Amino acid sequence: MRPPTPVPPVSSLWLTLSRLPTLPKIRMFGWWLAHEALPTGRCVFLVGLSDGFCPLCGTIEETVLHVLRDCDDVQFNLNPAGFTPHVTHGRQNCQKRSKRSQIRVGAMAADEGKVKIEKFDGADFGFWKMQIEDFLYQKNLYQPLSGKQPEGMKDEDWALLDRQALGVIRLTLSRNVAFNIAKEKTTAGLMAALSSMYEKPSASNKVHLMRRLFNLRMAEGASVAQHLNELNTITTQYASEGIKAACDWAYKGVEQESVLEDDYFLSRIPIVHRRLAQGGVRLAATLNRIFG
Ligand SMILES: [Zn+2]
Repeated sequence: MRPPTPVPPVSSLWLTLSRLPTLPKIRMFGWWLAHEALPTGRCVFLVGLSDGFCPLCGTIEETVLHVLRDCDDVQFNLNPAGFTPHVTHGRQNCQKRSKRSQIRVGAMAADEGKVKIEKFDGADFGFWKMQIEDFLYQKNLYQPLSGKQPEGMKDEDWALLDRQALGVIRLTLSRNVAFNIAKEKTTAGLMAALSSMYEKPSASNKVHLMRRLFNLRMAEGASVAQHLNELNTITTQYASEGIKAACDWAYKGVEQESVLEDDYFLSRIPIVHRRLAQGGVRLAATLNRIFG
């Protein structure tokens, strides 16, 4: 019998998790996580019900960190989700680095000039937009995105801020994309021009709705009912956009009243696996907040 790998001490990790200003279900998950109380291969191995190896890659013992970050199959999803190799390959250099620096989100690493946002070459506008917006928020350059000069800000300060944001955005454009928007002189104008050229309608709706949802705050003086109403509207719209997109994709080429054969379901299995692994992405984001 193979001896189980020792688990690192968790009390400080749990203390951090328990104080995160986030949903109770995420803190709850944090408790399971910190106490290795998730049914990972390692835990199931301890009670003699499995060989303990990761069912995705099959090569390594399945610990919590392996499931969330280190598994090659998970990294396959973490990288497109905006986590940089600096984060996801932390394990390769972990002896040389302190624990704090192993897990980091892309934009933070970008500050140190180590990682850059992938250049936008015209493909997957929604993803690039999300990354660049997050990056501008991190750098406190987000105001120009709205095109609205904050009250009390001097014109020259606003012009400088707008020019800075414009410059950061243009640095993340490939040559052929930059060529198309060379005449745009403001951040908001640039983003609008890019949207009109590259954003797909349905995907753009989803990104827009998601953003509205994340940024939804109860307005001062508004009633709870009003707030809930707005929340409801956005989530319903989001769900219906999601269903539409899923149907367009999943039932592509399927005709009315045709029967789906095994081939169809088998062809979907790899995608289901990917989606499961992507579930780890949200948790990795939480980990980044703790260690970042
Ligand atoms: Zn694995």
